[in-house]
Amino acid sequence: MPIRLLPPEVASQIAAGEVVERPASVVKELLENALDAGASRIAITVAEGGRRLIEVSDDGAGIPAAELPLALERHATSKLVTAADLFSIATLGFRGEALASIGSVSRLTITSATHDSTSAMRILIEGGRVHPPVPVGAPRGTVVRVEDLFYNVPARLKFLKTDRTERGRIAELVTRYALAYPGVRFTLVQDDADPGLQTTGNGDAREVLAKLYDAGIARQMIEVDARYEGFRLSGFISPVAVTRSNRKEINFFVNGRWVQDSALVTALVQAYHTQLMVGRYPLAALFIEIDPAEVDVNVHPAKSEVRFRDHNRVFADVQRAVRRAMMANAPVPGLDTPVQYRWTPTQGDTASPFDDAQGRPDEPAPHWGGFSGVHGDPGLPFTQPRPGDVPDQPPLPEASRVPLLRLVGQIASAYLIAEGPDGLYLIDQHAAHERVLFEKFLAQRGGSIPAQQLLEPETVELPAHQAGMLDGQLAVLGALGFEVESFGRNTFIVRAVPALLAGMSPQAALRVLVEDFEEDESPLQEEIEAKIIARVCKRAAVKAGQGLSPQEQQALLRDLEASASPRTCPHGRPTMIHLSVDLLERQFGRRGAR
Ligand code: ADP
Ligand code: MG
Repeated sequence: MPIRLLPPEVASQIAAGEVVERPASVVKELLENALDAGASRIAITVAEGGRRLIEVSDDGAGIPAAELPLALERHATSKLVTAADLFSIATLGFRGEALASIGSVSRLTITSATHDSTSAMRILIEGGRVHPPVPVGAPRGTVVRVEDLFYNVPARLKFLKTDRTERGRIAELVTRYALAYPGVRFTLVQDDADPGLQTTGNGDAREVLAKLYDAGIARQMIEVDARYEGFRLSGFISPVAVTRSNRKEINFFVNGRWVQDSALVTALVQAYHTQLMVGRYPLAALFIEIDPAEVDVNVHPAKSEVRFRDHNRVFADVQRAVRRAMMANAPVPGLDTPVQYRWTPTQGDTASPFDDAQGRPDEPAPHWGGFSGVHGDPGLPFTQPRPGDVPDQPPLPEASRVPLLRLVGQIASAYLIAEGPDGLYLIDQHAAHERVLFEKFLAQRGGSIPAQQLLEPETVELPAHQAGMLDGQLAVLGALGFEVESFGRNTFIVRAVPALLAGMSPQAALRVLVEDFEEDESPLQEEIEAKIIARVCKRAAVKAGQGLSPQEQQALLRDLEASASPRTCPHGRPTMIHLSVDLLERQFGRRGAR
């Protein structure tokens, strides 16, 4: 084919593809524009995951009538004048591309009135074709309405995920901006439901956290505020007891812009040092303020990546600030003194099948690790790792069964000691019980998993983005013995829980499950089930720190012997350490002596 210049519509659709990948990217650009315009209220309305409608209205500065057509031109911006400005960008937008891009792949209407104009102007651009502006009556500020996104780019449309997924992404995005701008009042309504998200805009960041997570977690979040030369880090991080199974709730903002930067995330996670269990991540909303000249935001079309001039310094400053905040707020475990947390027994924390076998003492046992009962925390399992606890021996093959074991006893209210024909076994009671429950659950699957009806159905409210995910998984939950009904957009009614979880707060159970959905949006049904089961078992398993009666210890050992994969817990950590007779002999120098 001969070389030809692309027709302008095609060229602009290609360019639009970089900025507007999905509905959430439209919401992002429109939010940034509203924030750049100094809005104090921003209302977002979305229909059908943003495919049919995205409307963002703000009470910001507005666009002067004469400039309205220009706002829709590519590379038209009020935020940059010279190339030099590119190196010290203080606004969220600067490329002058968003409106033009969105307008080339949708029907875009902008209605805007500045604070000193008497009437508003409205302009429509359809698939890149601009209609002449008309005057209308409207309050001050700007309303941008995007309808039928990608109606003229069927290929794009095909790549969109389900409405539910797109809705979730939008909620996630608005959540981030709400965190970053607690002084702005955000309202998000998706599909005419009640506000999925609403902040007051009173400037209280902790209040926003409470809206986004829940009051219990918000209360526990540790405040960070450190200033070093030319650098400030402020915001919130979770204590070690509050973790997630993914990095999604780690949000960094650089000069008010949410950024994706794996190095910053690494700096944060490393600052927790060994205190986090493998595969667990903190929650964080951290704001870096730095001289705009020290950071290049013009790296990525979606402006979600940045480059720091002195990357190492930023990395080190983040670590230093986070460590300080943690040390000031949390006990630091010594090498052999595990942290003892205040233990608030909630119903769920002691739930175990052993409960009815043997009465438990009223006084809770001192609770080392294996702990998830911070008051108000709906259930974030956490085990304190013990530094220096790595066995020297290579792990045994996962699937190999264990021989018959003779129980010797329990130590530290956490480990069982047993003797086998080939030496000594140290068994982590929590991990072992997790494995046992997991296999019992799996065995019941396919048949019917016994459910326990709640005496009183319980209402559980989830943050918007999690509610959407749960909505799509109700059937899976049903198969596992949960009876959960959607009741309004973010609210669910729990009528029954799996019998294995009887006694655990349904609220805690649901929240823990939703965490897993977040990790992967469309895993195989089988995988979801297995993950949910593993998670459920973790919650239901006896904890380290629980004294077990000899009968309970014995029962656990027998169950473990019967397991198909007794040597690891469902999350892959070892349930046992095996010290062979051979190793013992070597360690005691018996081998050499003979
Ligand atoms: P950029 O944000 O990179 O400048 P956009 O295409 O997003 O480019 O917007 C173009 C221009 O339109 C902006 O520079 C700004 O002057 C104006 N504009 C867009 N949205 C708003 C808004 N909500 N309020 C006021 N002005 C706006
Ligand atoms: Mg913009």
